[in-house]
Amino acid sequence: MDPIIIIGTGVAGYTLAREFRKLDTEQALIMISSDDGRNYPKPMLSNALTKGKTADQVAMSDAGKMAETLSATIMTEQTVVKIDRQNKSLILASGEAIKYNKLVLAVGAEPVRLKLEGDAADAALSVNNLNDYTAFRSKLATAKHVAIIGSGLIGCEFANDLGNVGIAVSVIGPSEVPMNSLLPRQIAIELQQALTNIGVNWHLGTTATAINSVNDQYDVRLGSGESVVADLVVSAVGLKANIKLAQSAALVINRGIVTDRYLQTSDPNIYAIGDCAEVSGHHLMYIAPTLLAAKALAQTLTGAPMIVNYPAMPVAVKTPSYPLIICPPPINVEGSCQLEHNKTGSGIKGLFFDENGVLLGFVLSGDMISQKQVYIKMLPDLLSSIPV
Ligand SMILES: Cc1cc2nc3c(=O)[nH]c(=O)nc-3n(C[C@H](O)[C@H](O)[C@H](O)COP(=O)(O)OP(=O)(O)OC[C@H]3O[C@@H](n4cnc5c(N)ncnc54)[C@H](O)[C@@H]3O)c2cc1C
Repeated sequence: MDPIIIIGTGVAGYTLAREFRKLDTEQALIMISSDDGRNYPKPMLSNALTKGKTADQVAMSDAGKMAETLSATIMTEQTVVKIDRQNKSLILASGEAIKYNKLVLAVGAEPVRLKLEGDAADAALSVNNLNDYTAFRSKLATAKHVAIIGSGLIGCEFANDLGNVGIAVSVIGPSEVPMNSLLPRQIAIELQQALTNIGVNWHLGTTATAINSVNDQYDVRLGSGESVVADLVVSAVGLKANIKLAQSAALVINRGIVTDRYLQTSDPNIYAIGDCAEVSGHHLMYIAPTLLAAKALAQTLTGAPMIVNYPAMPVAVKTPSYPLIICPPPINVEGSCQLEHNKTGSGIKGLFFDENGVLLGFVLSGDMISQKQVYIKMLPDLLSSIPV
């Protein structure tokens, strides 16, 4: 039988391979990655400075060790450029063709790039993998001031991490408060104040329009007419599913590669998992859903089809200056948020109810994060265990 092939060695690819090997130690398994295949916890990229970790220290094991552990062939620095669905074969950039029995796309997400003017428009660095983090660390060696374009979750995490190690930070973002799409205004204001307290400057309600080199620094021009001069510019304006391969193979795409609850795409021999996958309408680019999906897909790949269930899955935001746990309601749900300030300690509780008074999401900050379990238990599943 031709092998199972997983494209991608991120958290999704490696977790799936691990789950699969728990069930089947015989079936040939090939993993292909355009990077060096090191296994690492990507969430640590936005708090590794505080922890004093270099890229090598963030990495847990190299591709050779992973191949041994997983009894798999791991092909690194190889990019898959085409899927030939008719012949159940994929084509590498080198021209090599490899046949598959079942194919899993675990190709992740790529940073959104803003269209900027200026002679240094391309200098803005996105930190989305270990190589990016290596470049970030090396540029930081001489940087005293970093401009972050993007005031969302990742931008705020990097601002906190840089602030913690004494680097001046300016955050630029279009909304009036940071993380405005995830936080009620009052909580966002407290977050902003906490980060201000560790030296973060804010340029909110405006966007970056151009980056120019000035001596050894960068001049970031803003729509407001101001400019921020910094030694390094980080772009943190969001991630989008990596859909190129799937699109060229004419698989159904929406915000991500569309799958059903078996993680199966519109081709019965091709599955998708992780940041690239939109599972039954949910495009969730974080770790918890991927771990659950990997368990289910591993079963399916061994011939025991299993649907994935998503309970409510909170995310701990890595802003230790202002602890935050968020569990956003499903998208497109109408409702309102009720806020309650902590009377005995710090923080605010925000509870999101739909029009029928059903709790569908929450935000907890400061000391209130200790109440996490209470509210998780009250939330309905995102994808319940009722079969489809
Ligand atoms: C800075 C940062 C902080 C985060 N913090 C958190 C957090 O605190 N909590 C949380 O839950 N989530 C967090 N996330 C999100 C989480 O890290 C991701 O959801 C998860 O790591 C995605 O894993 P993945 O395997 O789907 O994708 P990736 O890790 O992006 O892996 C994609 C893989 O596909 C390979 N690939 C892509 N295209 C091809 C091709 N054509 N041919 C061959 N190989 C290819 C790549 O080389 C790579 O190996 C964070 C993300 C970032 C960027």
